[in-house]
Amino acid sequence: MARRILMGFGVLLLLVFGVVGVRFWRFLQTETVKIDDRFYVVTGGGGNTAVLIGDDGVLVVDPKFWSPGRRLPTIIRSLTAKPVTTIINTHYHADHTHGNANYPAGAEVIAHRRTRAHLLARDGGFWEVEPAWSSLPNAQLDDERQLQFGDESIRVIHPGRGHTDGDVVVYFSRRRVLHTGDLFVHGIYPVVDRRAGGTAREWVESLDRVLGLGDTERYIPGHGSLATRADVERFRDYLRDLVSQVERAVSHGASLAEVQRAVDLGAFADFQGLPFLNSQAQNVRWVYEELTHLRAHDGETGKD
Ligand SMILES: [Zn+2]
Repeated sequence: MARRILMGFGVLLLLVFGVVGVRFWRFLQTETVKIDDRFYVVTGGGGNTAVLIGDDGVLVVDPKFWSPGRRLPTIIRSLTAKPVTTIINTHYHADHTHGNANYPAGAEVIAHRRTRAHLLARDGGFWEVEPAWSSLPNAQLDDERQLQFGDESIRVIHPGRGHTDGDVVVYFSRRRVLHTGDLFVHGIYPVVDRRAGGTAREWVESLDRVLGLGDTERYIPGHGSLATRADVERFRDYLRDLVSQVERAVSHGASLAEVQRAVDLGAFADFQGLPFLNSQAQNVRWVYEELTHLRAHDGETGKD
């Protein structure tokens, strides 16, 4: 009997690790999507990357993790012989920034002022030594920065707090393509990094500002496949429903367990969580903690 239970437990463990392993494996795979001769999106391997080929150099948005991101310079070399001269980091998380160190020093690295501060305060072990030190953001912004790169007019905009307090989105106005960073993830539950100033409540307004930007035709999410305006609206609706339902329950004095039971977000059950990182129940807990002013503890609020 004991042996049977042990065997059953072993099979269960294998299944769990199998499912988690497949999700991680998928998370690390890259795919190159051509938008036109000068503009590519490389999904996966960390955050999604936009690659814009200019006249004398290449601009990259979010060059992924350090190690899986090493594939990216090879992919770029297969597209053009021009060097990477400009990097934009949408926020400080490792899967969007550590890859900066895979390019020769001297590139302009654009990010929000608070992103550079978070890199040093929250991830100093990586950034305070070379080669990362020389690839820290060296061009910082607070609200907006505009630049001309090759045939493209680019707006780097901080639409407000959400995933962290230093997220920017990157609008390629000629192509009407918007890279949203993790302010929008496609078909995936959001991660609220409260230790870095993230907030679910203000996130909804920030997304409304993102949706109001120009006449965007195509959205590059922080993670997941290329998306339409309807996809971004649905993600905003999830956050809005999540916040308002938790708010309603908390206003009646509900405990976390009661809030978990009261919330009904079944309409978004097709969203996926990243292994060990986020789920709908975790989203409810983060919003409950935010609304009841509980401090975000290390290890409780995930990074993505
Ligand atoms: Zn992130």
